Amino acid sequence: MNSLWLSNNEVLKNINVKNELTEDITTDICIIGAGIFGLTCGYYLTKLGYKVTILEKSEIASKTTGHTTAKITSQHGLFYDYLVNSYGQKFAKDYLYANEEAIQNIKNIIDEENINCDFRLQNAYVYTTKKEEISLIKKEVNAVSTLDYNCELVTKTGLPLDVLAAICFRNQAEFHPVKYLARLSKCITKANGEIYNNTTAVDVKTDNGDYITYTKDHNIKSKYVIIASHYPFINFPGLYFLKMYQSTSYLIAVDTKKTLFNGMHISSSTPAFSFRTAKYNNKELLLIGGMDHKTGHPSSYKDTYGKLEEISKKYYPDSEILFRWNTRDCISLDKIPYIGSFSTSMPNMFIGTGFKKWGMTLSNIAANIIVDKISGNYNKYAYLFKPSRIKPIKNIDELKNMVVQSTNSLLLDKLKKSNMDFEKIKNNSGSIIEVNGEKIGIYKNPDGKIYAVKPICTHLGCLLSWNDIDKTWDCPCHGSRFNFDGTNLYDPAFKNLDIYDL
Ligand SMILES: Cc1cc2nc3c(=O)[nH]c(=O)nc-3n(C[C@H](O)[C@H](O)[C@H](O)COP(=O)(O)OP(=O)(O)OC[C@H]3O[C@@H](n4cnc5c(N)ncnc54)[C@H](O)[C@@H]3O)c2cc1C
Repeated sequence: MNSLWLSNNEVLKNINVKNELTEDITTDICIIGAGIFGLTCGYYLTKLGYKVTILEKSEIASKTTGHTTAKITSQHGLFYDYLVNSYGQKFAKDYLYANEEAIQNIKNIIDEENINCDFRLQNAYVYTTKKEEISLIKKEVNAVSTLDYNCELVTKTGLPLDVLAAICFRNQAEFHPVKYLARLSKCITKANGEIYNNTTAVDVKTDNGDYITYTKDHNIKSKYVIIASHYPFINFPGLYFLKMYQSTSYLIAVDTKKTLFNGMHISSSTPAFSFRTAKYNNKELLLIGGMDHKTGHPSSYKDTYGKLEEISKKYYPDSEILFRWNTRDCISLDKIPYIGSFSTSMPNMFIGTGFKKWGMTLSNIAANIIVDKISGNYNKYAYLFKPSRIKPIKNIDELKNMVVQSTNSLLLDKLKKSNMDFEKIKNNSGSIIEVNGEKIGIYKNPDGKIYAVKPICTHLGCLLSWNDIDKTWDCPCHGSRFNFDGTNLYDPAFKNLDIYDL
């Protein structure tokens, strides 16, 4: 299930990324993770003359950034009414203008480096087709209007849906994220930065004012470390696993002969539906996204891709689905990203995470905040995202929900006896069975070949659940994911599952 963005292997060719780290090295700054956040940090830091080394567990842009929708916008759903009410007007205004600057920063990089990444300006809309949600749109328009920003309340958006109200932000943008990151990688390596694919960081320790990053076989000594691994893989200090969860959403890319709309659109409802168009082989495809749920919680094809396909068929009856994909993002309990020093005990190790499905602009803000910290410059937006913030958690329902879900997984699920017999597991499906009190995760491939794993997450020991859509073992606590054969696919875990010999 590759995304539209990763469908063309040519895009990531000739970018001078090394296959693997094969020796101990010393560098100024070690960046862990080569998604949009890590590579944006690398781009800015090499421009300033720092020696940068980037470690990537898999391949650059292959995880969340390679599976995003890639709208570049300061309109993060209906968010500003929440911000004004929770944090006040100055905070909300700074958040909005930080994101507006980020759009411009991305445009500046594209112009300066002459990057052909299908960047184009678009209007962004949050719309509703429900009478009872019109008041939410109006509240958002009022909140945004108090922040000296020109938004509009409209009823016509160009979407072929019965839109009753929408809030419009003008001069937002969209692009092809992998083309963009391929070029950033080239710029980094051209400026003597090094990027190593297939190199997993497993720990970071302090060493007389420096930091040592450990991979399985080698050490990287540096003055600074940037954790750009999406969900932090270090649990102590920081305790991010208590403050964030992951949410998965699905996307389809559709070919249709019908004329498509302009603009980028997202519904105000839950679950939200997201629309944009994108270039593919000289055509314009329709992208529909949505049907989010907590990562690791069971869902079916019918309730995810099936719903997106229904919408596509309803409004574009001739539609042919060319790509289906899904990915997940980190969401903090107060809905504000964590950007800055990883913890008070490790001040020169930095983090950028919790981008809550709006990481195109937020990763740029994060990169600028961290680059300013390293180069000793003041950043007026840094205060918004401080990881050490101790504020009452406003999103108390989410906290309760997260605690219940984690407890369910850790305790209740362990107590529940699976009555699913081994024989009842169908081919191309998986389940957990219990043998002498021990849980075993079984997957039978389409030919009946059996794979048996210990279904306990290698991050913090949560019981995994079977994901029948992607044939993976997923963690309902913090969102790690493993292939049916136990290979680790997604952070925060980085170790494979134990497997049982059959
Ligand atoms: C379905 C969906 C749609 C979205 N749409 C939008 C959108 O339209 N607009 C928008 O602004 N945002 C959107 N987002 C959010 C955005 O895509 C993310 O916030 C952003 O891509 C995250 O980038 P990242 O660099 O932090 O993470 P990633 O892209 O996941 O990069 C992290 C990298 O770190 C590597 N890594 C992990 N652990 C280690 C380790 N131990 N050692 C070495 N490397 C490691 C991983 O392999 C990965 O390549 C969307 C998110 C989702 C889920």
